[in-house]
Amino acid sequence: MSTLEDIEEEIHGAESGWVEAKTSCDHLHSLSSDLFHIPTLDSPCTRCYHSAENWLCLSCKDVLCSRFINKHMLNHHEESGHCLALSFSDLSIWCFACESYLDVQAITQLHPVYEVVHLLKFGQRPPFRISETNRGSSSTS
Ligand SMILES: [Zn+2]
Ligand SMILES: [Zn+2]
Ligand SMILES: [Zn+2]
Repeated sequence: MSTLEDIEEEIHGAESGWVEAKTSCDHLHSLSSDLFHIPTLDSPCTRCYHSAENWLCLSCKDVLCSRFINKHMLNHHEESGHCLALSFSDLSIWCFACESYLDVQAITQLHPVYEVVHLLKFGQRPPFRISETNRGSSSTS
């Protein structure tokens, strides 16, 4: 049996440590069809205008603040059912329905939007381990 201490340890560990990301997600059908045009990474929360470390809803492209600020992304998920969100602070993608981070490298449907935000944040494309587009790249330069 697990003590209260064990449970607290578990919760705390999940919040602060590295949690293994899922390599599949059943909710990718809710991705917006146009993720090439997204708000800039310093966009404020559309509800409270908090201006840092916001999340982008990958279904409707709303920018909303994190659970550590005013929980507007979480509220948005509860109201709309939109479950895929991208963090502007570290570009990680969270699925509220899976309650897990998603492995951007492994899930090819996430590559296009990840490329866009990576370009916005770092000025270059992300180094995908498995990239279809890298084949024959010598011809483009
Ligand atoms: Zn999911
Ligand atoms: Zn907010
Ligand atoms: Zn949304």
